[in-house]
Amino acid sequence: MIKLNTPIEYVKGVGPKRAELLQKELNIFFVEDLINHFPFRYIDRSKFYTIAELTDNMPQVQIVGRLGEVQELGKPRQKRLVAKFYDPSGSIELIWFKGVKWVKPTLQAGADYVIFGKPTVFNGKINIAHPDIELLSKATSKSQVALQPVYHTSEKLTANGLHSKGIEKLIKSVLPEILNEFYENVPTQFHDPLKLMPRKMAIKEIHFPQNLTYMQAAQYRLKFEELFFLQLQIIRMKLYRDRDIQGFVFGKVGEHFNQFFHDHLPFELTNAQKRVIKEIRKDLGAGKQMNRLLQGDVGSGKTMVSLLVMLIAMDNGFQSAMMAPTEILANQHYEGISELLEPLGIGVELLTGSTKQAARKGIFERLLSGESSIIVGTHALLEDHVKFKNLGLVVIDEQHRFGVAQRSKMWQKNAIPPHILVMSATPIPRTLAMTLYGDLDVSVIDELPPGRKPIETRHLRDSHRLKVFAFMKDQIDKGRQVYVVYPLIKESENMDYKDLMDGFDGITRAFPLPQYKVAIVHGQMKPADKDHEMQLFASGEAQIMVATTVIEVGVNVPNASVMVIESAERFGLSQLHQLRGRVGRGADQSYCLLVTGNKLSNEAKQRIETMVRTTDGFEVAESDLKLRGPGDMMGTQQSGMLNLAIADLAKDGKILQLARSAAFELLKSYPNLDSPDLINTRRFYQKMVKLRPNWSKIS
Ligand code: ADP
Ligand code: MG
Repeated sequence: MIKLNTPIEYVKGVGPKRAELLQKELNIFFVEDLINHFPFRYIDRSKFYTIAELTDNMPQVQIVGRLGEVQELGKPRQKRLVAKFYDPSGSIELIWFKGVKWVKPTLQAGADYVIFGKPTVFNGKINIAHPDIELLSKATSKSQVALQPVYHTSEKLTANGLHSKGIEKLIKSVLPEILNEFYENVPTQFHDPLKLMPRKMAIKEIHFPQNLTYMQAAQYRLKFEELFFLQLQIIRMKLYRDRDIQGFVFGKVGEHFNQFFHDHLPFELTNAQKRVIKEIRKDLGAGKQMNRLLQGDVGSGKTMVSLLVMLIAMDNGFQSAMMAPTEILANQHYEGISELLEPLGIGVELLTGSTKQAARKGIFERLLSGESSIIVGTHALLEDHVKFKNLGLVVIDEQHRFGVAQRSKMWQKNAIPPHILVMSATPIPRTLAMTLYGDLDVSVIDELPPGRKPIETRHLRDSHRLKVFAFMKDQIDKGRQVYVVYPLIKESENMDYKDLMDGFDGITRAFPLPQYKVAIVHGQMKPADKDHEMQLFASGEAQIMVATTVIEVGVNVPNASVMVIESAERFGLSQLHQLRGRVGRGADQSYCLLVTGNKLSNEAKQRIETMVRTTDGFEVAESDLKLRGPGDMMGTQQSGMLNLAIADLAKDGKILQLARSAAFELLKSYPNLDSPDLINTRRFYQKMVKLRPNWSKIS
């Protein structure tokens, strides 16, 4: 007999080999995982379009027609497959950018096909990229089913008979046997007011909907369920922290803060900085553990805020640690903060991967004895032998660069967890922040220091390189400095290195010694060499810095006013925005030049257009979320946690709100879900906590 916890191998038609593939490719281990592998869309088999009817604002459509000539086009590294497809009303192109090698042999020119995909317009012509394509002779007959589910699968699974239809067949065969095991997990009090379909029905309808209305109701119910349990977890953690964790009280503002604030502050704080410091001070005095996200666009002055907070910690007898994601950035913070605090006679420590063994010993001793009050560093701070006398505050810069485990490790550096201030320039859209950081308080610096001019962003093609060089020359003649950044997606990619070094050669030829000096920084250099080159640029000795994205985060050279980004189409939006944020830090007009090839994918085009249109980080982030989805946005470390089965944070903001208030309401009456009516809710909740322990400890 098949049950939800039956290993997938024992389902009829699976067996050991396919089971292994299902596990590897789709994380399907048990029957339950199979059932929770929801269709990602449906084909409306009741409707066909003719080519003449197509426009570019249609959703996905189904067409019957004949395949014409199939051609491979493009450079070796950017091959694409283009095929003509026509019906009596006209013709379009089908295009594949990926998988060219294995798609091509499956296409039979001259045969009739049913295709399915989203029409888009490119160069005035309609095409469909990566369509589903099926020989007409093999296609499901129209009358058989109205909404056919489509499941994610993989090349390997497809090769073993588990294409979407194969998966559909498996689900169809087990569903009747296990449907009764799907008990109702959302408290019934919410069903009527929120119009939630019963769980059992939703599971059936999500796979095999009777019609569009039922399909949508099933999706809504299952999205709600997923977000509801997520919110229960996050909110419970928040309640626990508010109630049970005692925080250090930083009750006073004393001599260090006051002296620095009145005598050594290099500029007047912006109103936003002042407001944020007030918000933080309120937390620090409240007797709870602070857990606050400080969001502010690049260049908004987060570092100064964190420095002032560290001085408050010091005034109350506590130590502070500031952790940065890269060595360059840690060095820069160290130098900046040391210089600012020097007149007060406060020494700052620095600990990174390249701190010498001999020096470490002294640092560890001074931290343990309490002689040192402030330390700046990289991941090295997480090591077990870094121990403090009384660590009261942890500042985490560019928090999205750290994994959850790393961040929660800082919690444990003290018996009483220190106050945590995480800073990020990557603006996180509201819906995402609520899910990821449901239990984090958020402060926003929404104002740049005065006198900054918005950065002008332009898009240029490769073929206009001379224009780019001329512009650089012009700016350098005016005394400015220039960054030129090359993509280096994987440190190991030799092609990328070649591009970088070719670029560097080209630039040194166009900007020769002795008149010009060009610095270079990339990931494979020794830290000491990196520092040396950074120093050349920071001091103004080098006018040009050629670099990979190692300079993406946080680096601050106010005299640099031009950011040239090569192969800009290969960067994600948040990266582009971060890179652009390296300029525009002084009073001069700054520029960002996005250099791309001539042919751009639609998505790349939209990214570049977004960058040219706006400098507002929140707008960039919203656009990013829409284009890429949340998993990618947060960088690889966090994407794993965003493994939602059905909800989509970019689109389901409303459902998230509903789920969040329902979760709040429930926990207000039953903080531990311990009412007899809630047995099933609680049972399911506990199962989720086991599956996703990280969700509650995200900060
Ligand atoms: P981010 O928020 O990106 O970390 P930084 O803290 O690096 O920004 O600050 C960017 C630049 O702005 C630095 O040179 C800093 O000294 C300067 N700055 C910060 N606050 C102010 C202010 N209130 N007035 C003028 N300049 C400021
Ligand atoms: Mg910063």
